[in-house]
Amino acid sequence: MGSAASSFLGPIAGVLGGDRPKLTAERLALRARQRRQIQSMIAACYVLDAVVLLIYARAGTTTVGVAAGYALTGLALVAIYVLLSERGFHERFRDHYLVTPQSAINMVNLLVFTYIAPDVGVLFLCNLFVVFGFGALRISARQTAIVWTIMVAGLAALFLGTDKPIGMPTGTTMDRLATTLVFALTIGRCMCLGIFSSSMQQSLYQSGLKLKEAYRRIEELAELDELTGAFNRRCIMRMLDEEIARCARNGSSCAVALIDLDHFKRINDVYGHPTGDETLRTFAITMFANLRSIDRFGRYGGEEFLLLLPDLSQDQAMRALGRLRMIVADLDWSAFSPGMQVTISAGVTTLRPRESSDTLLARADSALYAAKARGRNRIVSA
Ligand code: GH3
Ligand code: MG
Ligand code: MG
Repeated sequence: MGSAASSFLGPIAGVLGGDRPKLTAERLALRARQRRQIQSMIAACYVLDAVVLLIYARAGTTTVGVAAGYALTGLALVAIYVLLSERGFHERFRDHYLVTPQSAINMVNLLVFTYIAPDVGVLFLCNLFVVFGFGALRISARQTAIVWTIMVAGLAALFLGTDKPIGMPTGTTMDRLATTLVFALTIGRCMCLGIFSSSMQQSLYQSGLKLKEAYRRIEELAELDELTGAFNRRCIMRMLDEEIARCARNGSSCAVALIDLDHFKRINDVYGHPTGDETLRTFAITMFANLRSIDRFGRYGGEEFLLLLPDLSQDQAMRALGRLRMIVADLDWSAFSPGMQVTISAGVTTLRPRESSDTLLARADSALYAAKARGRNRIVSA
């Protein structure tokens, strides 16, 4: 029931999502199979109802012709539907189940049979509820109103336009048995409707959760650098702008550091690119482990990183960077490859009043350049 409900629900998601997606041959085959499944359920309902009508016929309340006619009409409708479905006719429509016309046709059929065989009208009228219930689960409010109007017009024509007595046979034991079966089948179908509806709800809920998780992941991917897990350049630059705005508002201080791995090209050349990648990752993890929760660390490009240190003075930032430099240098890099050594250089500066990110970064960059020029593995204050 769960998978049937979610497949029945699929097109609703399509409607909610706007444009119809292009369907693969596999998906088309699956949709055709789902339509066949639903039609086999409808065919089974017609056959079961025909058996009940035969019981009424046995009691003499109706004729075998009515039972046979009802079964044949129902099965013919199913056959036409399946034939059109197999020829791909249904795929031309947004709702590939064609619920609205199908519900309307079935309802007209039920009303016609109520007119032809009013003595056993209870069976057809009970089925109206089931057809309407299943249809309403799947179609829009406007379509439901259309189907309801057709049903009410038909019922009005039947009850007010004719004087046929519409029966709920209880005259003989056989009649009472058949009428009991009518209600048992109707209540059973309502039960299926309830189960179907809660499966659909469950399936919607699950889809919502999956969507939320996918959205969270997309947001995360849009903010994080894939290799190192640090914020990507776009994100760290946005954070820098936000930090500058915050400092302007509060008059607080903020230090920034541009950090670059020393002789990284050589690490790639000597130990290979994968080791280079692993080095970048390990460096980033080391930074995460040694930063405050309010610090922001992002990949500025290649093997260059930008560190935002809110509320730190130049001296405090220099001490923090000095400590980070030592931690990186003291790591046991030889675990990657014997003899391997990794160091960093950084240029540190603090934000000046009314300063833009461009001049701030240019100053940090010159300090980094100076650190490289003075022999690397050092921190230079701008
Ligand atoms: P310096 O000490 O002056 O910074 O020297 P350097 O070799 O680190 O600097 P250079 O700019 O000459 O080289 C940086 C190298 O970093 C070149 C580039 O191939 C490498 N690199 C950039 N991004 C990645 C990456 O994602 N993975 C790996 N393995 N290497 C990278
Ligand atoms: Mg470098
Ligand atoms: Mg560099």
